Amino acid sequence: MNKRKYSNQPAGNITTGSCACGSVRFQITGELRDIVNCHCDPCRRWTGHFMAGTSAQIKNFFFESDSTLTWWERTKEVKYGFCSNCGSSLFWEDRGRTESRAITAGVLDPPTGLKTVLNIFSNLASDYHHLDEEIKTTSGDLPGDQKADRSN
Ligand SMILES: [Zn+2]
Ligand SMILES: [Zn+2]
Repeated sequence: MNKRKYSNQPAGNITTGSCACGSVRFQITGELRDIVNCHCDPCRRWTGHFMAGTSAQIKNFFFESDSTLTWWERTKEVKYGFCSNCGSSLFWEDRGRTESRAITAGVLDPPTGLKTVLNIFSNLASDYHHLDEEIKTTSGDLPGDQKADRSN
């Protein structure tokens, strides 16, 4: 229905999400980026498969509950957020893109209205993985223009 690069959700739309045990619960207002599948080595290991990630402005987040939200500082630049009670993979942040936070799409309450638009780091997917050839695929990171969008 929407041919634009990113889904444009209605103004005032609220997306809700939570970890598996419900200890981390949040709401996001405004637009979410369509889904990018990251097959990089740390995302593959951290999620157990790959990260299907959307992204939103940090200022649009409201946490109803976050007492068990824990961050793994993988490098000085990037960190992964998870629930220390149930282990759900939740967020990813890059210090170079301080305004945005990636969210694992599976923790959002459906329907999300989002579409999967891109595979990145496809060369790092494991050998068992069957990449969906209908999704645009690159062996590297997000292309420059979309990288900029990532911080939106
Ligand atoms: Zn939890
Ligand atoms: Zn990754």
